[in-house]
Amino acid sequence: FNRLLLQCRSGFEKEAAAEITDQCANVGIYGYCTLNEGEGYLIFNVQQSGDAERAIRDISFSELIFIRQWLVCGDCQTVAKEDRISDIQNILGDFPPCEEVWTEYPDTTDGREMATFSRKFASALSQKLKQSAFLPKKPRRSGNRLMLFVLSGCQMYVGYTQQKNSAPWPLGVPRLKFPKSAPSRSTLKLEEAWHWFIPKDEWDTRLAHGSTAVDLGAAPGGWTWQLVKRSMFVTAVDNGPMNEDLMASGQVTHATEDAYRFVPDAPVNLMVCDVVDKPVKTANMAADWVIQGWCQEAIFNLKLPMKQRYQEVVACTNVIAERFMQEGIAYELSAKQLYHDREEITCHLRLI
Ligand code: SAM
Repeated sequence: FNRLLLQCRSGFEKEAAAEITDQCANVGIYGYCTLNEGEGYLIFNVQQSGDAERAIRDISFSELIFIRQWLVCGDCQTVAKEDRISDIQNILGDFPPCEEVWTEYPDTTDGREMATFSRKFASALSQKLKQSAFLPKKPRRSGNRLMLFVLSGCQMYVGYTQQKNSAPWPLGVPRLKFPKSAPSRSTLKLEEAWHWFIPKDEWDTRLAHGSTAVDLGAAPGGWTWQLVKRSMFVTAVDNGPMNEDLMASGQVTHATEDAYRFVPDAPVNLMVCDVVDKPVKTANMAADWVIQGWCQEAIFNLKLPMKQRYQEVVACTNVIAERFMQEGIAYELSAKQLYHDREEITCHLRLI
């Protein structure tokens, strides 16, 4: 296992490469990336044997921003169409024990053509591997997961990842259904953010019925819709018009003000912000909200239309770090390029 296979949004391979190179260097792991732009994945080749396994143990997956899913693997395997399963079984001799098997593929137009094959193959392979006792009949939830990354019916990377230190959804994409009554597609961004940043068993306390929120740059109301659905009371800040049905809910107050100057009358539970503006300006504003105690937690998007996207993200996280250091306050910042994010990432900030 001398490689890490890293999945990302198509077109963000360079950002994912810069990120894994930095994260690995932080734990003393060195190597080089091979990638083709637009393929939705890249390979990090480690210099020292054992370092790929060490990376998925020592780096926390939740700290990765542009990387949606990861696994350790060797070379890309060519398997015979007539008996793929036997070919795979032959490779598994050197593998550590695994609990289950997932098959994934690049999240690109070409890659998605492998979806049906992947699903069927995973099911057939899983059955065989249970028969041969490579996989247990009753999997645990805290071991390794065998991972196949399928490029075609005969070409695939075979590797593994740790169930607890990788994306909990195949391809790193939670399956969310677009709610018909939501006023904009970006509604799914906020719902996906909750899945990544807030453990589900804490939703009822941290996104509690009757709690309060401010939505900065709210129009037409996709994010507000999610807050209203959780029975929260929302101040929607935007000069643009809000969806009429949302306003009729009686849970939304519309403030036609500048998001960067708005200060709530009383502290709120949650601030969310989807304004399109300079990332550093938004990062500073989110830091203000948490430091001043105007909200308990904040979820905000950083728009990245520029060339140096990874560097811009590092600059923003540094700005937030400096602000909290000056105040002597401990904080928690997570960031992820969500499936529903385009040229942007979503961040979550709160005090510890
Ligand atoms: N989250 C919204 C939804 O789900 O429907 C979409 C938000 S849209 C991407 C960005 C919004 O930010 C626009 O409606 C725009 O009017 C608003 N906006 C831009 N700059 C703003 C500012 N300085 N203050 C308030 N709103 C602003």
